[in-house]
Amino acid sequence: MNYIGIDVGGSHVSSGLVDGHSIVAKTHMQVSDNSSLGALLPELEDTVRALLKGAANQNCHGVILSFCGIVDGLAGRIVETNGRYHDAPEIDFPEWARSRFGLPLRIENDARAALLGEHVAGAAQDFDDVVMVVLGTGVGGAAMIDGKLLCGKHSQAGCLLGHFGSAVPGRLCSCGNLGCIEAEASTAVLDSVSREHPNYSASSLRNLQRLTFKDLFSQADAGDSCARDIRERCIQVWAAATVSWIHAYDPELVVFGGGVMSAADAILPIIQSYVERHAWTPWGKVVVRKAALGNDASLFAGPALLAHAQ
Ligand SMILES: [Zn+2]
Repeated sequence: MNYIGIDVGGSHVSSGLVDGHSIVAKTHMQVSDNSSLGALLPELEDTVRALLKGAANQNCHGVILSFCGIVDGLAGRIVETNGRYHDAPEIDFPEWARSRFGLPLRIENDARAALLGEHVAGAAQDFDDVVMVVLGTGVGGAAMIDGKLLCGKHSQAGCLLGHFGSAVPGRLCSCGNLGCIEAEASTAVLDSVSREHPNYSASSLRNLQRLTFKDLFSQADAGDSCARDIRERCIQVWAAATVSWIHAYDPELVVFGGGVMSAADAILPIIQSYVERHAWTPWGKVVVRKAALGNDASLFAGPALLAHAQ
């Protein structure tokens, strides 16, 4: 089947024409002002029309849209945008796609769509009980049980993995909770976490602006003790969190995606070992694995999302 996939993130919109397990054509739009999604729709419409020309001789099944916020997939609406794209909950995306392109549209949270994509064409193809974690600026995720996405009454089930408590007393999180995983060990808080370290003033991290995990890991590898402490602490937070996610959702596989996975070889063996020592899974071992599809994972969610589209 072929379809149009759109992924709306906080600072980008990626769109692609997908045919089976391959992306035939793809565009990437940087978003400098993410206050309004409605303002981006005319450009997005042009992009989709251009992609559809590539599908001219084929039957396009529809459009899927993944979004970086809480999404009610059944209702086809964005529920909560976490401070970005303030007008998004007012936009009727299925009607937009129907009126502009004559196509059905399905919408889903981006981490849930990434999990569906990994299930269809990536690291989770052989599993039906999966937790997916996305270590990006924040910590996102989704859970699948018996091949079905966990959604819940308010569309929040399984996608607040980064907001499990991990420290008491803990740092204040953007969600309002204290000590969330995202508030203790995510790119978004690396600057403030490093500044609070007792050796920060003597650390090479002091010379870096908007610290990333790539910077942190390279400074740790170079021997900086402050960077090493923070790296170890973050991996321990993620490892302990993985056990909590396993206890909550009973998966056989935990897939880690996001930019931090460029250092997967330094992270995942520690998490796998921690899980084997501390997760209560008398039935066997949970597999911990890196995502296979990178930033494109959500674009591969079409077969699952459009299966019942008309
Ligand atoms: Zn939180």
